[in-house]
Amino acid sequence: MTANIPLGPGPEFDLLRAIVARYGQMSAGIGDDAATLRVPDGEQLVVSTDVAVEDVHFRATWLTPNEIGFRSATAALSDLAAMGAKPLGMVIALTLPPRRRAGAEALADGIARAARDFGAPIIGGDLSDGAVLAIAVTVLGSAARPLYRTGARPGDALWVTGQLGGSVLALRALLAGTAPAPGHRMRFAAPRARIAEAQWLAERGATAAIDISDGLAADASHIAAASGMRLTLDLDRVPCVDGATAADAAASGEEYELLIAGPADLDAAAFASRFGLPLTKVGNVASALPGAAGVDALQGGRPVALPAGFSHFQP
Ligand SMILES: [Mg+2]
Repeated sequence: MTANIPLGPGPEFDLLRAIVARYGQMSAGIGDDAATLRVPDGEQLVVSTDVAVEDVHFRATWLTPNEIGFRSATAALSDLAAMGAKPLGMVIALTLPPRRRAGAEALADGIARAARDFGAPIIGGDLSDGAVLAIAVTVLGSAARPLYRTGARPGDALWVTGQLGGSVLALRALLAGTAPAPGHRMRFAAPRARIAEAQWLAERGATAAIDISDGLAADASHIAAASGMRLTLDLDRVPCVDGATAADAAASGEEYELLIAGPADLDAAAFASRFGLPLTKVGNVASALPGAAGVDALQGGRPVALPAGFSHFQP
C-alpha cells in the first residue's frame, strides 16, 4: 500500500482533491498514472466492474448521495464475494453533472464507507463532467481457489445467506411513490457485500456461488445453466424478510446475498453465530440429462412455476 501523491493545480484537481480527502485513509496510491498491486503468492487476480447510472439503476430522489456512493461500491464488491475473493482495491470512475457537484463529497463518503466496511482501499479513478450521474466501480481481488458458477455437483445442497425480499418491496413502494418500510429501505439503500461470509463458505467446501442480483430464482438458473445441473428450489424454505412472500423473496433482485452450492451438512448455527446472519438450505443439485439443465421450484411439495426476476429499475 502506497501513500497518495500530491495532485497539480486546477479546478478539476480541486474537486478531485476534495473527493480524495473524503476517501481519507481508505485511499492509497492515488495521484500517479496508474496503481500497482501485489497479488499474494499462489492466488489469482479476480476483477469485476459495475456501472450505476442515474435514472437507469437508481433515482437520485430515492437515495442520499452517501447511499448512492455506498450502494454502487457495495454492488461491485458483492461480485468479489460471489467469487470467494478477498478485495485488493477499487478504482472509481465518476461522471458528475454540474447539478450533482454539491453532493460529490457525500458520495465520496459513501464510497469510503463501503471501502472500510468491506476492506477494499480506493486505489485510483477518474472524474468527468457529463449529463447524468454515473459511478463505474472496478473491483480487484484475489483468491487461491475462486468459486465459479460452473462448480455445482450432483448431491450438493443449495444455501442462501440472509433474508430476501426487502429490496423488491422497497423498490415497489418507491415506484408507487410511497415510503418503504425502514427495514425494506435498508435492504435497498444499504446492502452488504458478503465478503467474509463467502470466505467462510469457500473454506468449508462451497463448490459454486453467485451473488443475488437478478433474484434468487433467476440466479439459481444461472448456476444450473453454467454447471449443467438440475436444481430444485424449495420456495417454502426461502428466508423472507417481514412482509415478503416466498414469491417476492425468490424474485427480488439487487439483494447481494449469496446463493451457493456446497455440502449438505454446513453448520448453519456456527455461520449464524459468527456473522449474525441466517444461512438457509433452500434446495439441492442433481445431474441433468443433456440439454435439460435448469431449476424446478417446489411449493407445498408440489412443482410450481419459477418466479420471474424483478430487478433493474427501468425509467
Ligand atoms: Mg454477480
